[in-house]
Amino acid sequence: MAIQRRSFIQALVSAALFILAAPATLMRKVVSAAQSDDAGKNLPGQPRSRSSMDRPGVAIEMCPDYDPIHVYRAICKALESIQFAVPSGKKILLKPNIMAQNTPDQAASTHPAVVEAVCRIFFEKGNTLTIGDSSAFYQGGGTRRGFETTGIGDAGRKYNARILPFEATRLRKITSGHVLNPLYVTEALFEHDLVVNLPKLKVHRLARYSGALKNMFGCVPGGAKQLYHTLFQEQPDYQEFWGKPLVDVYETARPGLTIMDAIIGLDKDGPAANGEPRATGVVAASENGAALDVVICGIIGFDPYWVPAVREAIARNLVIPSRINTIGSAPLVPYAKLSDLVKKKGLFKKLDNHVFEQFIMEPRIHTSACSKCGVCIEACAPQAIAAGQNGFPRIDYRSCIRCYCCEEYCAAGAISLHGGATNHIVRGVRRIIGL
Ligand code: SF4
Ligand code: SF4
Repeated sequence: MAIQRRSFIQALVSAALFILAAPATLMRKVVSAAQSDDAGKNLPGQPRSRSSMDRPGVAIEMCPDYDPIHVYRAICKALESIQFAVPSGKKILLKPNIMAQNTPDQAASTHPAVVEAVCRIFFEKGNTLTIGDSSAFYQGGGTRRGFETTGIGDAGRKYNARILPFEATRLRKITSGHVLNPLYVTEALFEHDLVVNLPKLKVHRLARYSGALKNMFGCVPGGAKQLYHTLFQEQPDYQEFWGKPLVDVYETARPGLTIMDAIIGLDKDGPAANGEPRATGVVAASENGAALDVVICGIIGFDPYWVPAVREAIARNLVIPSRINTIGSAPLVPYAKLSDLVKKKGLFKKLDNHVFEQFIMEPRIHTSACSKCGVCIEACAPQAIAAGQNGFPRIDYRSCIRCYCCEEYCAAGAISLHGGATNHIVRGVRRIIGL
């Protein structure tokens, strides 16, 4: 669901709740109050090669459809064009875009044919594969279901890939972010030799464009993604500002290779399935994701400086547009430039923020099922869980970042996720329609 398109009904429901109950205080102080153990020095992925920074190559390959052979050949050719040497015997983490529980025809997630082709390329060189992501607006099991509905799980299993919702991983605390500091990301980034970024080309109501830089935000598990939004919603120009946290996460994840699925992109609206699939016929590859985004912006008719995350990446010298070496070309396929978010003030802004917060689930411990094993205490990176007086774990919600790792780690099923009333309504509807 695209939260940026909060509907009138949602607003009404929210307004009623707003009057009946005090809004949940989702603490803007949480992140800054967390414990300090700088881990930002040991950055993941492959170190960027000098050429990928000085004169980054971006390969553009035409690919007419998702026929597996066409996709495989186009990606092989693109990797050849940028002279990317596929390693062997390494641990590779593939990070597709699993927006939600979408199907491939909705063009909201990376197409499984692209994931399959990349798996094949790395598998044939004797690498071991993991495919990981965390879907947006997580509800219990959301990422796992997204792996299946998108077909990405099946694609990966053909090549023995481990399917990994990032909610089921440990987290690492990073303190090197420019604005998102500290920041918690999946430990999986640090456990692999190479991170391969597999974004989907989409327009995005908040970020304006979703590509290589934006896709790595999924390395933040569960509702922490939304909690990080709440940290900056009071910025004078939140939409322009949002590029900074996105680039903080991208710089932390440092993918060594980006391969974009722009064969059929998402136009008119996004990032969720409310947009329109748009045949664009392109596969792009680069060791420099920021450079790839600059080139793709050109193909869809966007000024890269209009996209906050791309502009921020340029400001941080992650790419110098004039030095990009573009190999291949594609016809211009102009995508819709979505109108900017309406800036709300006063009560409307409070209501808006309240509706947003309704979608962020919080973990709850059920002592009747708890064995006091302590696993959740150990798994909680921000140390928000501690043993209470009677030995049962207790959550300090002021420190909880809503990553939901405790829910994944509790084998007894003693932890469940609860959202606000709007969230309950959405979950109820989803249950009825079987999604
Ligand atoms: S992991 Fe589950 S069973 Fe173990 S202490 Fe935590 S809530 Fe209880
Ligand atoms: S209590 Fe659970 S959801 Fe909250 S930070 Fe700890 S592991 Fe994450």
